[in-house]
Amino acid sequence: TRVLGIEGTAWCASAAVFDDATDDISIRSDAYQPDSGGIHPREAAEHMREAVPTVVESILGEVESTYGDPSETLDAVAFSRGPGLGPCLRIVGTAARALAGALSVPLVGVNHMVAHLEIGRHRSGFDTPVCLNASGANAHVLGYHDGRYRVLGETMDTGVGNALDKFTRHVGWTHPGGPKVEAHAREGEYVELPYVVKGMDFSFSGITSAAKAAYDEGTPVEDVCRGLEETVFGMLTEVSERALSLTGAEELVLGGGVGQNGRLEGMLETMCEGRGAAFYAPEPEFLRDNAGMVAVLGAKMYDAGDTIQIDDSRVLPDFRPDEVPVTWRSGTPA
Ligand code: ATP
Repeated sequence: TRVLGIEGTAWCASAAVFDDATDDISIRSDAYQPDSGGIHPREAAEHMREAVPTVVESILGEVESTYGDPSETLDAVAFSRGPGLGPCLRIVGTAARALAGALSVPLVGVNHMVAHLEIGRHRSGFDTPVCLNASGANAHVLGYHDGRYRVLGETMDTGVGNALDKFTRHVGWTHPGGPKVEAHAREGEYVELPYVVKGMDFSFSGITSAAKAAYDEGTPVEDVCRGLEETVFGMLTEVSERALSLTGAEELVLGGGVGQNGRLEGMLETMCEGRGAAFYAPEPEFLRDNAGMVAVLGAKMYDAGDTIQIDDSRVLPDFRPDEVPVTWRSGTPA
């Protein structure tokens, strides 16, 4: 099976091809970089309008030279249906429908969060892991049970990356802030910030406000960054551990752009080691938004006959991972 995937839920216009015979994944991405502030939906959509055709054309060129005529060598076109910014999703949806039509191949509608999870499962070879999705606009802990990925715990307010980005905007740093928090935290001393876990859910908005206030009161920015990392990632690690304990799962995979953070990876690794669980974090290009994960899940869904009609392919900005019937896998329920 060979599938072309298209991603464009927020900032990353990306196209990829996945070939399941060789397990090769080839990705072309073009990131939107705001001049100031965070991601503006209209500007992000403008970026998609320009960049999606370019990355798709580039990947089609690669398909042509590696496998031959795309209309004969591709089995399906997959795209991120959501969750994400409506104006961006609509552009990606239109591109995917047009391409599937032009190539006369079926269309596959992928849930972006499930794709963040499945790429880790695919590359680790784990069967029934718990997954921590730590991305810009989201934060979920998921476990597979009875045909669905269930949300075991999640943020009650902002996504984890957005919480870090809000603080860095306040400090005057350019988007994305996450990597800058990581760099500064290395030089900082821990400062206490509110740690908010309620059951299996967590909240970041109070932490962001407290971090801004600490900075305004003169706490060195490096120390605030260190406090942010220790607090926010400590919360995610606690809930991930509780999810492993509750489900009895012995595998944890990490997904999402914040997963590129070395401190988060380190905490999760230590926690898993402590309880004898296996831990897997995909390479950075598969953690941040990318079309490779869309193509991989698209191929699994295509093989399971899980394709959609054009008329039925509207985008879903609030698409939750637990709305997706998992058609492509069998496994022991967690
Ligand atoms: P979603 O997948 O929920 O739609 P998204 O589209 O915003 O989220 P991702 O690529 O998953 O995108 O994540 C981007 C986020 O990752 C940004 O908020 C960015 O600040 C954060 N990030 C990137 N690198 C790091 C890092 N090293 N440490 C912490 N955060 C990081």
